[in-house]
Amino acid sequence: MNLGYSILLGEFVPANQARPTDVAGFQIVCPCCKDPVFKTERLGRKDVLEFFSHYASKVGTEDCELRVAGISEGTRASTNSASRSQTLKLFLAVIRSAMAVAWKDDPHARRWAEVEGSPALSWFVDLRADHMATGRWFKDADLDEALDTAISDVDLMALRNAGGLDVSVRRRLVKDVISHLRSPNAAKNRKTLILHGLRGAVEAFWTCEALNEIDIPMRKMFNALLSDTRTDWRAWVKRMNERQGPHLDAFNDLHFMIEMFLMRDLLRLPVVRMLENHRAGRAVLEGIDDLDYLPIAHAKSDEISGPSI
Ligand SMILES: [Zn+2]
Repeated sequence: MNLGYSILLGEFVPANQARPTDVAGFQIVCPCCKDPVFKTERLGRKDVLEFFSHYASKVGTEDCELRVAGISEGTRASTNSASRSQTLKLFLAVIRSAMAVAWKDDPHARRWAEVEGSPALSWFVDLRADHMATGRWFKDADLDEALDTAISDVDLMALRNAGGLDVSVRRRLVKDVISHLRSPNAAKNRKTLILHGLRGAVEAFWTCEALNEIDIPMRKMFNALLSDTRTDWRAWVKRMNERQGPHLDAFNDLHFMIEMFLMRDLLRLPVVRMLENHRAGRAVLEGIDDLDYLPIAHAKSDEISGPSI
């Protein structure tokens, strides 16, 4: 395809104006399916033809190749697959690494490390990732409303006065990242970012638990989710399905919390600094050790960040 789409810039980028390193630096994806692409070139009759191509034709990417331009199978096959997979890794690592800086001073880091690989939690994340990929979760139709909630306590005036990236640009970015997360080659990012939102929810639970501000259905749900085996969690889900009521409410709240924590941190992606780095020829995340600060309206010092539970 001749055109890619940059998640960070929010613009279409012609292939002949992009360097191979721009793909990771500007986070360039297929304009159709938002799957990562790579820059490649080949010798035409008169000059060098430059284009973007999908990494692999997975289910869901075949049509957009045709829609965006139409590049022969032979051309794709002729590019070096080893270097491609390196680039894909680099591309996908940018967003993951950027989001990971959110946890740099996390007081719960050790406790989280103990539970993050637990069977129930992994199982839950896999299932949610599946629902996200198939459009049953993080639906396009619901994104604006969810984003409204995620920014509801952000002081937009203070953000503008501080010269920060406007919130409308940030909203656009979050939507682009989420459509990228649904793409076929983004499975690892999808799981990592769902886990990111889930970590926010779990840590909020720990904070509320320490303050003794948690209701019983919520406490039971988190304890089952963080248990050593899948048995407790399965039993909890079964009970939730049968009895619904407060169990179902807790389950719905958990999803809402994951969405909110993920969106809130995606809104804080340090895009300007990432682009400055890339343009200066530095590694995209060089020197970046925190997400952007979003000023909160009427913030109270004893308030925990993120949605309350
Ligand atoms: Zn595509």
